Amino acid sequence: MILERERTLVADYGRRLIAAGLTSGTGGNLSVYDRQAGLVAVSPSGMEYDAIRPEDVTVLNPDGTVADGQRKPSSEAPMHLLFYQARPDRSAVAHTHSPAVTALACLRLPLPAVSFLVALSGRDEIPCAPYRDFGGPELAQAAVEAADGCDAVLLANHGLVALGKDLPAAFQLAQEIEFCADIYLRCLAAGREPVLLTADEMARARKRFGTYGQGETYADHTKRDTAL
Ligand code: 13P
Ligand code: ZN
Repeated sequence: MILERERTLVADYGRRLIAAGLTSGTGGNLSVYDRQAGLVAVSPSGMEYDAIRPEDVTVLNPDGTVADGQRKPSSEAPMHLLFYQARPDRSAVAHTHSPAVTALACLRLPLPAVSFLVALSGRDEIPCAPYRDFGGPELAQAAVEAADGCDAVLLANHGLVALGKDLPAAFQLAQEIEFCADIYLRCLAAGREPVLLTADEMARARKRFGTYGQGETYADHTKRDTAL
């Protein structure tokens, strides 16, 4: 089976999405781009994550044609492919319907610097793309445009897209952004606007993430800023 490693990752991380509460039902989708092979492994459309085996993960060419697999690919595959075009430094996409991020996206608000964890996106604020029909080329265009180089973007009344150098990084970013959105909503629910971190404080957070942990996933989000 071609792209066995990437297809296995997509199947495994789909189950993790559900376990972590980052999506429900068949919502959301995942992909990994093997840039050397020039092939993308993307989750199948409308399948329960529990049931997805590596062979159910569809392999696409960068133009969207099917290279391998029997399953219809995710309806959001065009959005994944457009992100890969726009971001040659990123090789995994996680699209989620996580509850706090989605609530924030229904308010059509960006996620500001409520926590230093927002800096993992590479920016001080995570933008919110306008509403477009799911699965359409207009959503893909709107998401890539709104992200404008940020590793995460909210989709109005829909969910989140998070990018990573690999799938663990994209998943981890989606998880941290959900946490930050939840904290932000709790502040708003308390009837107050939170005090936001300053640009300097966020720049220092990015720098610290550059050497945080074991140097694998977190560091990747901040590589561009470690020279600060
Ligand atoms: P797929 O099941 O086709 O991946 O679609 C789910 C989704 O999240 C649409 O935006
Ligand atoms: Zn969706």
